[in-house]
Amino acid sequence: MSAFKLLLLPGDGIGPEIVDEALKVLKALSLPIETQMALVGGAAYDAHGHPLPDATLKLAMQSDAVLFGAVGDWKYDTLDRPLRPEQAILGLRKNMGLFANFRPAICYEQLVGASSLKPELIAGLDILIIRELTGDIYFGQPRGIRTLENGECEGFDTMRYTRPEIQRIGRVAFEAARKRNRHVTSVDKSNVLETSQLWRDTMVELGKEYPDVTLEHMYIDNAAMQLVKEPKKFDVVVTGNMFGDILSDEASMLTGSIGMLPSASLNDKKQGLYEPSHGSAPDIAGKGVANPLATILSAAMMLRYSLDQNEAADRIETAVKKVLSQGLRTPDIHSPGTTRVGTREMGDAVVQALG
Ligand code: NAD
Repeated sequence: MSAFKLLLLPGDGIGPEIVDEALKVLKALSLPIETQMALVGGAAYDAHGHPLPDATLKLAMQSDAVLFGAVGDWKYDTLDRPLRPEQAILGLRKNMGLFANFRPAICYEQLVGASSLKPELIAGLDILIIRELTGDIYFGQPRGIRTLENGECEGFDTMRYTRPEIQRIGRVAFEAARKRNRHVTSVDKSNVLETSQLWRDTMVELGKEYPDVTLEHMYIDNAAMQLVKEPKKFDVVVTGNMFGDILSDEASMLTGSIGMLPSASLNDKKQGLYEPSHGSAPDIAGKGVANPLATILSAAMMLRYSLDQNEAADRIETAVKKVLSQGLRTPDIHSPGTTRVGTREMGDAVVQALG
């Protein structure tokens, strides 16, 4: 097996601290992974005047996967929008063609109290939201704000999907379900929207190619309700860009702990950008208290989805559960009776728990 090329983009704030811990865990697995590191976000702006310098983008395009920390700091908020750190993520998504966003929401038994939902609703939760990331009303043309003949102003956007775009994300969802509990919920608004009607028709057709996976359809308004009413009945949820934007945030909050949530964005060559769902947390940067688990779990997703190393991914996920069972907690997930640890100690504990 030729070495897997991994680009590390630690970024700003707590980014470097948490990426260091994920790298420590990856190294402990002794897999053939070659790493490179580059600047991104505010750190890249400070050094090169741009949040996504050409050299960084080139390395990302040539890599098999990117492990991204986080970008941003309030000190960059006055920059012109194209120069702000967060633009780096959009640039990477666009150039790498990352159309499939994976956001798992897993509620660890040991952290069940962190959720705002009742423990019995949330204990054992393990769902995966797959959001289409490059189409829909966020990118549809025409769009704009125009003045009508009667002098009123009107804002308008275009919701659109082509059949191939729906098939592409649909396949990703069915394939992911095959690695899980073989159930896909496709979310749309086909009772009102033409785009959603095409979405549903296409999903029904595609579903015939995956007879081993059950396909269910749900309207977005109902899905938003069911996610808080009975979240455990979902396995894989697949939906368009706008509905997915909302549902993935809703689902991630079911678990209550932002420092625990990984994410992945993939293209059709299984090249991916893996990052924690949280931001750069400038308020705690450099203090050694950030929770590295979301980034470590993002590295596990990378092993599963870009490297097909399911066993190694399982080992990391099991190790994370083990350290939580040992009662180790960074301050964000600390509760009475547990042991408070810092970023490095948490990373070391995961390495130890790999066995
Ligand atoms: P944030 O996610 O950085 O922080 C929100 C709160 O959660 C803070 O109190 C922070 O201390 C805490 N937190 C976040 N991650 C944590 C971790 N791993 N361990 C412990 N506590 C953690 O969101 P914010 O404060 O709204 O944004 C800060 C900066 O991050 C902004 O510049 C924003 O634009 C940027 N941001 C970047 C990304 C990204 O890089 N993908 C995503 C969201 C926000």
